[in-house]
Amino acid sequence: MKTGRTPIKFELDELRRRLQEAEETLDAIRSGEVDALVVSGPEGEQVFTLRGAEHPYRVLVESMNEGAASLAPDGTILYCNGAFARMIDTPLDTVMGHKIGEFVEAGETEALAALIERGCSSAIRSEMSLRYRTGVILPTQISLNPVKMDGSPLIAVVLTDLSERQRREEAQEAIRLRDEFLSIASHELRTPLSTLMLQLALLERLDANADPSRFAQSVAKARNQADRMTELTNRLLDVTRIASGKLELDVANHDLGEIVADLVEQMSEEAGKARCEFRLKIENSVIVRCDRFRIEQAILNVLSNALKYAPGHPVSLVVERQGADGVMMVEDRGVGIDPDALTRIFNRFERAASQSGGLGLGLYIAREIVTQHGGSIRAERREGGGSRFCITMPLSIMP
Ligand code: ADP
Repeated sequence: MKTGRTPIKFELDELRRRLQEAEETLDAIRSGEVDALVVSGPEGEQVFTLRGAEHPYRVLVESMNEGAASLAPDGTILYCNGAFARMIDTPLDTVMGHKIGEFVEAGETEALAALIERGCSSAIRSEMSLRYRTGVILPTQISLNPVKMDGSPLIAVVLTDLSERQRREEAQEAIRLRDEFLSIASHELRTPLSTLMLQLALLERLDANADPSRFAQSVAKARNQADRMTELTNRLLDVTRIASGKLELDVANHDLGEIVADLVEQMSEEAGKARCEFRLKIENSVIVRCDRFRIEQAILNVLSNALKYAPGHPVSLVVERQGADGVMMVEDRGVGIDPDALTRIFNRFERAASQSGGLGLGLYIAREIVTQHGGSIRAERREGGGSRFCITMPLSIMP
């Protein structure tokens, strides 16, 4: 019997049928009428449910290096991935229900609350420091995006660990400071060296007997420059000793007031040149346990700065007991220090302003010496202009 259908026509009809079937399936998926798909393949039939389609996303989120979480509008953590739990230093199974604000640095909770408020309505990105229970601070970038889940407003949060970037930036900054320091140090050494060479050339030509006063003048100038170079090299050596932990202290009980009074006497010529008058207010018997030579060095650095940065102004010095501490305060009425530089000036090679003209080592050495004595040093801005430096050391004998 003849059917009237050629094999080619049969294949075309079959293809058309299959295409229509595929189109209908896609339409059904799009309109949400399908719960599951059964796909026949070499491994047999596989069932893909739409619920199962979440699985790849879950795996993706769980394997991210970034911390991901969803927050309620009040900052409660509703869901988070493993990376997020690690970044807030909390076991994954105990994170949910905590507020994200519990894990940020104390000073940043208000800023975070403002971010969450804005994150409820628009995408926003900022930087935030997380605080571990151990006290370690983790710098992060936080991105917030408003999302809706089953009609409820949520915030999707992504945290990126910035500590690596921060370490890189710090390393680059350290290299920049070191290079700047090397250029300043060579310049600082070259100046006295050139003068020294000049004086030596002059001395070679001079006849000491014929012109004794000019000869003596040149010798004095040469000695001055050699002293400056010795001071600079000693500072560099001290920095190396401090960096390698080889600053040895020979401690005994000393009166802080006596140390300061002696130093002021030694510096009278220098103070005269700077047209500065030292005004002293010293309490008796402020006894601290210290290496006298090193503490003198620390105080000298602070006093020399007062003369250098406040020429022509009086410099006040106070030594007194405050509770269990001996305190020394130096106050000048000079150019003062910018608020953002008040802590940074104690770092190695740091100068508050590039035109300071020093090596940026004096205060670093002072801080290292004082802290190795169990004390501290801080800089403040003086009301009405100028700076105040406070050195605090534990008293070794209580009155
Ligand atoms: P420097 O050799 O550059 O003076 P220091 O470590 O002693 O190095 O000081 C660091 C920086 O702190 C200085 O470069 C200067 O900018 C600032 N500074 C220190 N003492 C004072 C002061 N009394 N008044 C103003 N600025 C100061």
